[in-house]
Amino acid sequence: MIVIKSPSELDAMRRVNRMTAQVRDELAAMVRPGITTLELGNAAFELIRKLGGTSAFYGYHGFPGQICVSINEEVVHGIPGKRVIKDGDIVSIDTGITFGGFIGDTAITVAAGEIDDEKKKLLKVTKAALDAGVAKAVVGNRLGDISHAIQTVVEAAGFSVVREFVGHGIGRDMHEDPQIPNFGKAGHGPKLKPGMTLAIEPMVNIGGPKVKVLSDNWTAVTCDGSASAHFEHTVAVGVTAPEILTLP
Ligand code: MG
Repeated sequence: MIVIKSPSELDAMRRVNRMTAQVRDELAAMVRPGITTLELGNAAFELIRKLGGTSAFYGYHGFPGQICVSINEEVVHGIPGKRVIKDGDIVSIDTGITFGGFIGDTAITVAAGEIDDEKKKLLKVTKAALDAGVAKAVVGNRLGDISHAIQTVVEAAGFSVVREFVGHGIGRDMHEDPQIPNFGKAGHGPKLKPGMTLAIEPMVNIGGPKVKVLSDNWTAVTCDGSASAHFEHTVAVGVTAPEILTLP
């Protein structure tokens, strides 16, 4: 069942998602060669605490980190730890915050130092795919319109869309209905209605779409070792245009 948010619930979603965007951007600005992923995780803890929130990821199904940090061939769900970020890495930071009973969720992938042209293209295409999906979050469209728009942008660029992980409805719970695959048919699926809040999050690989989970039971990596990027916004379905909630 897709939960429709009331106007006051939408206000609560606006608040927590604005906070989440702020933390995302502050963490993204810290990414540089020489910093460890745990330093980013610890900074996230402090930033979220100062805003009065808590990590929505920490403890979720036992996840041990404050945020997810995923480097290069890591797709999503990397656990902050000893890994040192190097020049030429791309670093995905996924941030989730609980505040006022609602959850914000957003991700960005940024360059550490100087990255090669293929990685530059990957970041540009994944962000463009997110924007194309978000643009379809309008009343009267169907869920498949979002999925199809994302897939079209990614595949036109010669990259592939991850199948195993998908976007999701979000609100009081991090993962509400509906699931939002980053591939699908336009004109199919549930109709989008006012009050729906959706986390749209393309995960895009330079190589093939296949991913596997490492022995830490969390970190998902590409099977072919190619680099992967991840961008995510939480949006409210709008009457004439989508309302992106994860803007700072
Ligand atoms: Mg998400």
